[in-house]
Amino acid sequence: MDVVDVITAKRDGNVLSDDAIDWVIDAYTKGAIAEEQMSALLMAIFFNGMSPQELNRWTAAMIESGERMSFDDIGKPTTDKHSTGGVGDKITLPLAPIVAACGAAVPQLSGRGLGHTGGTLDKLESIPGWRASISNADMRAQLRDVGAVICAAGAGLAPADRKLYALRDVTATIESIPLIASSIMSKKIAEGTSALVLDVKVGVGAFMKDVDRARELARTMVGLGSAHGVNTVALLTAMDTPLGLTAGNALEVAESVEVLAGGGPRDVVELTVALAREMLAACGLGSGKDPVDAVADGSAMDCWNAMIRAQGGDPTAALPVAPHRHEVVTSASGRIVRMDAMAVGVAAWRLGAGRARKEDPVSFGAGVQIHAKPGDVVTAGMPLFTLHADDEARFERALEVLTDAVDIADVAWAQPKLIIERVGA
Ligand code: URA
Repeated sequence: MDVVDVITAKRDGNVLSDDAIDWVIDAYTKGAIAEEQMSALLMAIFFNGMSPQELNRWTAAMIESGERMSFDDIGKPTTDKHSTGGVGDKITLPLAPIVAACGAAVPQLSGRGLGHTGGTLDKLESIPGWRASISNADMRAQLRDVGAVICAAGAGLAPADRKLYALRDVTATIESIPLIASSIMSKKIAEGTSALVLDVKVGVGAFMKDVDRARELARTMVGLGSAHGVNTVALLTAMDTPLGLTAGNALEVAESVEVLAGGGPRDVVELTVALAREMLAACGLGSGKDPVDAVADGSAMDCWNAMIRAQGGDPTAALPVAPHRHEVVTSASGRIVRMDAMAVGVAAWRLGAGRARKEDPVSFGAGVQIHAKPGDVVTAGMPLFTLHADDEARFERALEVLTDAVDIADVAWAQPKLIIERVGA
């Protein structure tokens, strides 16, 4: 097999054979294909796309590049959720223990934040003592005993994706539906869950800015999951406005704990309950205990405490607090009709909650607290945001991006739908 022939075939719009795909993924993972050649192939895929058969095989080859986990022997159905990423998206934190408290096992391999969207592992690491890396044996034991594990994926899981994702990041080939779908689904299928619910975000704070592209991504991923024996459904959900009232690691943990205690912002609760019901239905537990009851009877909170403790964390310890605060007040009276999720995400990032390079540390206490959301009526001078940072010098750049983030007007306003559409197999 010659890599230049494979690149030429894709550049000219031809369909790659199964053998060519298997060979190219294997050779690239082993370091036998040069980065510039894989870059050219990725760009050819970016422009010419992939047929369903090609995408299936490409995804299978990525799964085959590493280990495939299986939890068939733990005695509970497994179910997981993946979000394509949004601002204030802390849903995994309350969701995993709620679903586990309803009788399922949730093996959730998560990532760290890059850019304006936060990462689940960064959020959990703000809990004193909590460890993201655990062995496969500990993961299996925790799933059996506690029912939920949120941890980092080991190096052996879909190593082809690790290399391809890093290359896509520096070659402007991230925003390709087949490449995003194969990247996400290869990891989720290799993780060994039997059911998967995808939260595909749509809007200014998401990868996918319009519903048509989000629907195409959702259908592509649902098709890949079904083809690999994972019962997969997707919800398209709005990401024009930040989710909840916080963006930032420890701030989001505190909000998640409020949800588990029966409170929390309306949108976070609505999405958590909807995703939990989908996860339970997808693994055959749809007619069992309801997520709302698991919160009300305290079993979801018990599961959270056990999940944090099992990974070395102290759920009763005080969360980190940033030493500096800056309050932003409303500039006018009226109804808030828009709050730009991307602006709030970038502000949290500039305050130190996110990282610009993979190796950068994050500040656990930094972030944005939101005091009023679209739909709320405010009077000029009321608190709108509190910015939290370890270093006062960070406020200026965060404030710059928030200048035009909010519109206040005296117009009729209707709450937009949070859950836009469901895409089933
Ligand atoms: N998340 C992933 O894991 N891969 C992508 O390509 C995009 C988002």
